[in-house]
Amino acid sequence: MDENSLSKFAEMIAGARSAVFFGGAGVSTESGVKDYRSEDGLYNTVRQYGVPPETILSDEFFYSHTDIFYDFYRRYFLGDRPKPNAAHIALAELERAGILSAIVTQNIDGLHQAAGSKNVLELHGTIFRYRCIDCGEAASIEYVEGCEGVPKCARCGGIIKPDVVLYGEPLDERTLTAAVKAISEADLMIVGGTSLAVYPAAGLLRYFRGGKTVLINRGETPYDSRADLVFRDKIGEVLGAAVKAALGKC
Ligand SMILES: [Zn+2]
Repeated sequence: MDENSLSKFAEMIAGARSAVFFGGAGVSTESGVKDYRSEDGLYNTVRQYGVPPETILSDEFFYSHTDIFYDFYRRYFLGDRPKPNAAHIALAELERAGILSAIVTQNIDGLHQAAGSKNVLELHGTIFRYRCIDCGEAASIEYVEGCEGVPKCARCGGIIKPDVVLYGEPLDERTLTAAVKAISEADLMIVGGTSLAVYPAAGLLRYFRGGKTVLINRGETPYDSRADLVFRDKIGEVLGAAVKAALGKC
């Protein structure tokens, strides 16, 4: 890791009043969560269903092949709970220090909250909320994990759907509005673990008007040339070291 860039990053953090973190799947890979688009990510490795995972994760597929959807979903999204890594922990610490005002994430794994972050705007929903598609009754992740096959509503017997934004579905309006507000008011934008390939989520960065942008991602992104600093290192190491230095901890 470049020490000069790291100390610049720490200075930016220490000088920020309202930083926002915008993150994607790469934030969670260091916790053992598979991402979507990398070489060993879901989209390149899951072939046993005869249809690509992108198709399985669409609303049309959910309603037409609910049993296959849930087979896939249980295998890759439920089960063992991964643990927050150094990136999640550093961001939670930055929020407690009053520097980070929001986390805008494309992830659905709840790891930011598990690390203690409070203002987490989940653009693509979460595996921790479920609802009956017929009567709207809420269900817990434990309830869904306790069922076999397609989980059915305890009240009316309807199909339970995860509160996860599938392909073909719009993003939640309130989450989107809150994300736009946080980004437009931010004075430091930290972008991590995302190739910025998914719209409209990636388009949110256009609302950032002030200050500095720092990008932490293994691969190139269309945003690299506009960033003040770019790190290609592990996100947990970069954020961990920069936050420690910024908050004056050894
Ligand atoms: Zn119901």
